[in-house]
Amino acid sequence: MTLVYDDICDQCEEWMQPYLDRELDDAERAEAEKHLDGCGYCRKRYRFEESLRIFVRRVCSEEMPPELKQKLAALRTPL
Ligand SMILES: [Zn+2]
Repeated sequence: MTLVYDDICDQCEEWMQPYLDRELDDAERAEAEKHLDGCGYCRKRYRFEESLRIFVRRVCSEEMPPELKQKLAALRTPL
């Protein structure tokens, strides 16, 4: 059986969140890693998603500077 490139990349994308959350079972993780080994495109997406998570975690754990809070409040459209 031959998988179309796009099909397995779609599947791989579905695995991305649970993979990063470590929620995949062993078989799925092995499949995902096998695909990532051979697919630079998905590897890049995983890496991007991972760094995004690290960035978000860092930003959320830091207190926002008051100037930035003010700027964001000014941008908010009144309801
Ligand atoms: Zn892929």
